[in-house]
Amino acid sequence: MKLKDKVAFITGAASGIGREIAHCYAREGARIVIADLNGKAADEAAAALVATGAQAIAVAVDVGDEAQVDAAMDRAVEHFGAIDILVSNAGVQIVKPVDALSFEEWKRMLAIHLDGAFLTTRAALRHMYAAGRGGSILYMGSVHSKEASLLKAPYVTAKHGLIGLAKVVAKEGASHGVRANVICPGFVRTPLVDKQIPEQAATLGISEEDVIRKVMLKETVDGEFTTLEDVAQVALLFAAFPSNALTGQSLVVSHGWNMQ
Ligand code: NAD
Repeated sequence: MKLKDKVAFITGAASGIGREIAHCYAREGARIVIADLNGKAADEAAAALVATGAQAIAVAVDVGDEAQVDAAMDRAVEHFGAIDILVSNAGVQIVKPVDALSFEEWKRMLAIHLDGAFLTTRAALRHMYAAGRGGSILYMGSVHSKEASLLKAPYVTAKHGLIGLAKVVAKEGASHGVRANVICPGFVRTPLVDKQIPEQAATLGISEEDVIRKVMLKETVDGEFTTLEDVAQVALLFAAFPSNALTGQSLVVSHGWNMQ
């Protein structure tokens, strides 16, 4: 078991990629905190883990809210005694051209993706530094941490920003044994992506099939979606890595869509 007795706080873990990472980490012996805006779905996700014999709790939290994030992290430490791994994964998508975006939409995207990453990182680091047992921080970036696409200005901006944050946290955390890295997946079939397909079809005036083939998977080497399991395996590699050799990095897992 690669994560035996580690405590992992995973945001957005009631659905999609975060939920898969939670199951992967639990299979490797970790104790899991499902932190999600959707409290009911978080409760269900934690119950599903407990049903497999894992230890898991749910906390309802908006990652963009300072007081809620601090309280959620405190609750996790109170329950499990420590935080060893943070996966800052919660995210949403808004698909619109820049000239049609409202300032509110822009701010909402940056609040979830960037404020959320900062607030959860700060709360986790305070506990990690105080406990003196090191830790691993993972940010859910995207191929859009490295590339741009039409209609995704706030998302691309935020996902690029996570790489900067990870590099600083890698430098500051090193003397405390805390590592920070970014995973950059290509398209994965989750509710976040399923919602975009009809939206992009309408905005671009093409069929949903063409959104998948000619937009989403066009640049991959094999026309395949990245899978939840692919992303979870990379998340496991980063979380379980035993030294500071792997820190400040961003790894693309995208069927070759991006090769940087
Ligand atoms: P998803 O919609 O399946 O899950 C996202 C989860 O985040 C949901 O449970 C939602 O309730 C939660 N959430 C949303 N806003 C929140 C907030 N303010 N506070 C706390 N929780 C909140 O999406 P997913 O595809 O699993 O996406 C997870 C992450 O992976 C996101 O950061 C996304 O940008 C990133 N990502 C996804 C893909 C993809 O193709 N699906 C590709 C690259 C990166």
